[in-house]
Amino acid sequence: MRVGILTIGNELISGRTQDTNASYIARELNIQGWQVPIMMSVDDDETAIAKALDHILGQAQAVIATGGLGPTADDKTTVAVARAYGLKLYRDEAILLKIRGIFERYGLNWIPNNDKQADFPEGSEPIVNPVGTAWGFALNVQGKLIIVLPGVPSEIKRMFPQGVLPVLRRTFPESAQAVATRTIKLSGISEAEVDQRLADADLEGRGVAVGFYPHFPEIRVVLTVRKASETEAQALLKTAEEQVIQRLDRHIFALDDETLEGTVAALLTEKKLTLAVAESCTGGLITDRLTDISGSSVFLERGAVTYSNLAKTELLGVPEETIREFGAVSEQTARLMAEGVRKLGHTDLGLSSTGIAGPTGGSEQKPVGTVFVALADGKETICRKYLFRWERRRVKIATSQAALTMLKRYLATGGMSGKQQV
Ligand code: AMP
Ligand code: MG
Repeated sequence: MRVGILTIGNELISGRTQDTNASYIARELNIQGWQVPIMMSVDDDETAIAKALDHILGQAQAVIATGGLGPTADDKTTVAVARAYGLKLYRDEAILLKIRGIFERYGLNWIPNNDKQADFPEGSEPIVNPVGTAWGFALNVQGKLIIVLPGVPSEIKRMFPQGVLPVLRRTFPESAQAVATRTIKLSGISEAEVDQRLADADLEGRGVAVGFYPHFPEIRVVLTVRKASETEAQALLKTAEEQVIQRLDRHIFALDDETLEGTVAALLTEKKLTLAVAESCTGGLITDRLTDISGSSVFLERGAVTYSNLAKTELLGVPEETIREFGAVSEQTARLMAEGVRKLGHTDLGLSSTGIAGPTGGSEQKPVGTVFVALADGKETICRKYLFRWERRRVKIATSQAALTMLKRYLATGGMSGKQQV
């Protein structure tokens, strides 16, 4: 089955807004095993929209269009579709009431222009928007299917699985397959190495599509399986996933929508352990990531940004002599920072980072990208040195990733095991 994509909006063709809808929809269609022969973008202009629909439907059975369904004068998509196929508009009074209800609930002023968001070309089936006021619609014309959605990316991400997929599957039942996917998130390993370690699993040979998607600082391996039945798809996916985990276990930190910070938070909560963080080169990023997780106050006692030598000495008790002798960026300082913040916060664990993010401040012995991360639990302190080769922001992100990974491994393996001492 072939489905084309049309994104509509002045902001797209003027380059002010990046067209993320097209890539999102293409990705979702590909997962289903459907082809996308064409993606186009046009202005909010009736003629341009009509021409584009005609062009796309010349090479696809269906088109998904986004944008231009709002209440303002530049939102012309509904009218353009109706005119292009000689259809009248009808007003859906029930939908109009629902949209009015949203305005009332949030105390928004109702402007008469909003009425037009309840207008649809005759013969079309409205598609619910669970997070906005612009409904979409699906329309069968001349043996083709036209689906129109609003432009806001977060709304499309809800409407596509809930409203669009069912319509496509129903309209083209012969091309609908059971699809199962799993995203496996890894870090601390190169893409080439992942590829090499998976080579002998022969996943492709057994009908498992494998995609590699670098997403700094992670690598995502996406497994996709398409089968006649849901049971078959799930079974094959499960064995494929087990094979990947077996080969890459150490580097995997999360699956699907899970995150590294989410995994760490769940482990700390489950084990009833508390944490204090002392950050230098990450400037609070480790703590920021942990506090993205709701409920983090259960385990996170404090995060201190100790950027200067004085702060490391005054707040964490790192002796001046240690810094003078070994440097602020050193294994000795990193260890004492982790131990110091742990003591200060009376927590089970102390985590620290210190490094040279660059582009200045490097030396022969300690080039830009030199980073130390340490973890203290009161009995032992582990420390690891890294040498990152990226620009400043990426060094900070990679350092936060390394620190959270160290913590995750500690929690997952139940202590400072030999494995930890990398
Ligand atoms: P619209 O439904 O046309 O009023 O679009 C609402 C907003 O969604 C626009 O102002 C853009 O910020 C955003 N938007 C529209 N189309 C796209 C697209 N193809 N990709 C990313 N964002 C978009
Ligand atoms: Mg628009």
